[in-house]
Amino acid sequence: MSDQAPLPPNTYDAEPIPEAARDAIDAMLLSGDLFRYTAPQDAPVALLEREFAALMGSKYALAVSSCSAALFLSLKALDLPRDARVLIPAFTFAAVPSSVLHADCLPVLCEVGANYRIDLADFESKLDDDIRAVIISHMRGHTSDMDAILALCDARGIPVVEDAAHSLGTRWHGQNIGTLGRVGCFSFQSYKLVNAGEGGIMITDAADLVARAVIMSGAYEHNWAKHMAGDDPELAAAFARWQNRLPLYNLRLSNLGAAIIRPQLAEIPRRVRNGRANHDYVAARLNESPWLDVPPPLAPEERAPDSIQFNLVGMDDAATSAFAAAAAARGVKVQVFGQSADNARAFWNWRFIPGDVPELPQTREMLMSACDTRLPARLKRPELDLIASALLDAAEEVMGPAAQYGT
Ligand SMILES: *Cc1c(COP(=O)(O)O)cnc(C)c1O
Repeated sequence: MSDQAPLPPNTYDAEPIPEAARDAIDAMLLSGDLFRYTAPQDAPVALLEREFAALMGSKYALAVSSCSAALFLSLKALDLPRDARVLIPAFTFAAVPSSVLHADCLPVLCEVGANYRIDLADFESKLDDDIRAVIISHMRGHTSDMDAILALCDARGIPVVEDAAHSLGTRWHGQNIGTLGRVGCFSFQSYKLVNAGEGGIMITDAADLVARAVIMSGAYEHNWAKHMAGDDPELAAAFARWQNRLPLYNLRLSNLGAAIIRPQLAEIPRRVRNGRANHDYVAARLNESPWLDVPPPLAPEERAPDSIQFNLVGMDDAATSAFAAAAAARGVKVQVFGQSADNARAFWNWRFIPGDVPELPQTREMLMSACDTRLPARLKRPELDLIASALLDAAEEVMGPAAQYGT
């Protein structure tokens, strides 16, 4: 590499927040009206909930402090008994088993395959009479076979919570991810498609479930009334049913967060379109290498990626480390999920789960060779080429020119 070679972009830089957020924030700073329940109606958080529900095509939305809070409240709102077992994928973020423990439940881990999706045979074998709920993490937007999963869960009457933290904009058979299960949860943390620093939201069509979640999120006294948009006798009855009967966890979103999120909702289609095009372009280039493999999407799936995952082919642990170092030397950060110390997506690091760490050989094998590189939607073709070339060159540096091996 010559000293003049342009370096790939910093993929951790965020996009600027749309200008429109400034006026709303300025007005809020002048009035000091930051709490969602101060205004009699139409507080920014309430407007965000209405807009997000409409955007996703769901009946109700509840904005909260994080996606982790949304997952926790979803489980609490399902009214599961203490120590209920909740089936989750073994490839997910540590926040998922954590939310299960917070809700006084016990996580059961199922295998995930080399394509980052739930292994259906293992899922079905673990979906026994003890499982009271399922959380499906659409990790980095990779959607497991939701037709099969919903059929298995529906047949047993087991509710499905979708962890769509990092999958906003993804579709399955044309339907928005997060609207397939009983509840869908999203994140507005800075590394997700919509960035408010922190924040989350849950969506559902179930009036009783959302009423419980609203109250537990911190709608004390009659603040739940500010969640009623128009006439909804079913929701009103649910609030009346649960009044004073649930603990308050106070996981609310502030008006400031909503003001930062709302103008970004209009940006989602562009970010999804560009993210997908960027991903597919880089995927095609990486798949030219015999050492790199980007698994294809499932047929019903349209992803909204802001990163790319690929498997290393024929590289042992030493070669894998050498590949990551060679990519880093070219300015591209590659994270091999299972190889970095204390990675929060490696199940063996979730030692806060009671009992022994389960053995999940298939998931472990995937985590030891799956690479993760950020690919934000704002990148342009020359930047994508720099990233793709850096990865291809790094693989060749470690494994030798492809042609030599006759592939
Ligand atoms: C980011 C993320 C979460 C947690 O979201 P927070 O808003 O930070 O709590 C949960 N699950 C997945 C798959 C994520 O990517």
